[in-house]
Amino acid sequence: MTEPTNPQLQPMPEDWRRALAVVAHPDDLEYGCSAAVAAWTDGGREVVYVLATRGEAGIDTIAPAECGPLREREQRASAAVVGVSTVEFLDHRDGVVAYGPALRRDIAAAIRRHRPELVITLNHRDTWGGVAWNTPDHVAVGRATLDAAGDAGNRWIFPELAEQGLEPWNGVRWVAVAGSSTPTHAVDASAGLERAVGSLLEHRAYIEALTDEEPETYVRGFLTGVAHSVGERFGGRPAVAFELFNR
Ligand SMILES: [Zn+2]
Repeated sequence: MTEPTNPQLQPMPEDWRRALAVVAHPDDLEYGCSAAVAAWTDGGREVVYVLATRGEAGIDTIAPAECGPLREREQRASAAVVGVSTVEFLDHRDGVVAYGPALRRDIAAAIRRHRPELVITLNHRDTWGGVAWNTPDHVAVGRATLDAAGDAGNRWIFPELAEQGLEPWNGVRWVAVAGSSTPTHAVDASAGLERAVGSLLEHRAYIEALTDEEPETYVRGFLTGVAHSVGERFGGRPAVAFELFNR
């Protein structure tokens, strides 16, 4: 038996100005990659968040009508901690987000509005690796985002977008998937990790419903553990991993 290979992750590309992150729920980016976002906004890059839902089905003890606005507030506060001031919601229904043309069109429209070179999303595969099953919303939004990066550049797939004044955008060069079990690239999280902790802590109602642990202990333990584990494949520095797809 040979040991499984564990290749080093490559540094993420740095020759870009604007990124658009598209995920299913409030907290997906904070669990997934906000230390990288903090590093990018520190460097003067613009990052915009688009969420397919308001996460209104995410807390058992709070009904959706109350939960949606609460989680939207938490998400906006959370984004601000890592230098993101634009947060948009596509208003698909939490838990039953459907992969298909409507979702692709809504994401393609967001890509045309913001004209990013880099698009970020969360794990689109069935599992997190091994036997940890992913949720259907993540799979749907991840796949639709990978597809919409191409749709955004095609005038004829969703002609109604150009009629609304959203001209095709062919400038997406990469789609980076956070939370992938087969990452290829990474970003140094040293400078952004504390703000990532603060950012996830803004999802306080969600976290308090999720765990009996003291929220800061839980959040710091989780994010630090992941960052150091990724760092074993990135020169020993705490890091955020992505699977990078070229366009
Ligand atoms: Zn989620």
